[in-house]
Amino acid sequence: MKIVLFDIDGVVADASDRFTTLYDGCHQPDWKPDWYRFHDERMDIDPVIPGGAAMLRAAYYHMPSVAVGLITNRLDKFRHRTRVWLANNALPYDHLFMRGEHDYTNFKGHILDNLLSQGCTILYGVDDDPLHREVYEKRGIPFVYFHSGYNELSHLIREREA
Ligand SMILES: [Mg+2]
Repeated sequence: MKIVLFDIDGVVADASDRFTTLYDGCHQPDWKPDWYRFHDERMDIDPVIPGGAAMLRAAYYHMPSVAVGLITNRLDKFRHRTRVWLANNALPYDHLFMRGEHDYTNFKGHILDNLLSQGCTILYGVDDDPLHREVYEKRGIPFVYFHSGYNELSHLIREREA
C-alpha cells in the first residue's frame, strides 16, 4: 500500500484559537500547558485551513491508488467528534491514526514504524510542527512543513514538559 499522511491540527483544522489558550498563565513558574483543554475545547467548530484542505483533497481524489491517512496527536476518545468535523467539512481520508489515552511516547514515530513494517510506502507526510521533520526524515520519508503560524512557541511547552 502507498500512503500519504496529513496532520490535522494546524494543517486542515485551524486550531490557532485553541492553541493560544495553551499559553494562558505561561509566565507563572508552575505553568504547564493544558493539553486536555486544547483538545477538548472548541474542537468541533475549528475553521478549515483552505490550503491544507486543498492538499488533502488533491491527494485523495487525484491519486486513487494512494491511501490518505490522517495522523494526529488528538486522543482516540475524540475519534467520533473528529470524524464528524471531518465529514461536516468534506475532508476525505482512508485512515485515521489517533493517540491512545496514556500514550506519551513518540506516537507519530510509532505509527510510521508500524506502517513501514507492514510494507507500506509512505510517499510523504505533511505536518505543521517543525519538530516532526526529524521523525519523518530519519525514516527516509519526505516531510512537507505546513506553516500554521502558531508553533513558534512550542519549544516553551517542551521545555516545561521536560
Ligand atoms: Mg499540528
